[in-house]
Amino acid sequence: MDDQQLWHLGLSRLKALYSGFTRETELGFAVLLTRYCQTKEALAEVIAEIDASSVCHQCGGQCCLNGKYRINVFDSLALFARKSIPSVNFIQRPVCPYGSQDGCSMEAGLRPADCILFICDAINEKLSPQSRMILASGEQDLRECIEQASRLTGVRLRTPLLLWAEEQKSINPKV
Ligand code: SF4
Repeated sequence: MDDQQLWHLGLSRLKALYSGFTRETELGFAVLLTRYCQTKEALAEVIAEIDASSVCHQCGGQCCLNGKYRINVFDSLALFARKSIPSVNFIQRPVCPYGSQDGCSMEAGLRPADCILFICDAINEKLSPQSRMILASGEQDLRECIEQASRLTGVRLRTPLLLWAEEQKSINPKV
């Protein structure tokens, strides 16, 4: 099974998982999802405020190469719940399958947590002590959201979607 097939298998298993939530799980999950997305938006704003776009432009987005395992199961459920599944291209290596030469196809609140949390050396040098504190607190918040949502759903939501799809295939090979 190639990456494209795993992606579709992962999405179809997510759909089944999501529609099987009890009402109570659905409500708790929605609260965590909102917190997760809003925290990512706030973290992206902190980075934008230090003129990251010029740093990224100069570098050419090296951190966005080979990003196929960046989307975890929780990120994917957020995309699914918000009906914002990106179009993907697993052939355009080393460019990330969820973006293009022009950048990421997802808005900040729906971008993978790993991408939002990654700080390269050039950005790191521009951060103020206050920005660092906000980023550290936001990182902790995102990790807590993932842990709480994992306990709520009984699924290890930090697992990359493609690896989770592999596991799902071995548990139930019927696609
Ligand atoms: S998902 Fe978006 S931000 Fe993350 S590596 Fe891919 S293109 Fe970059």
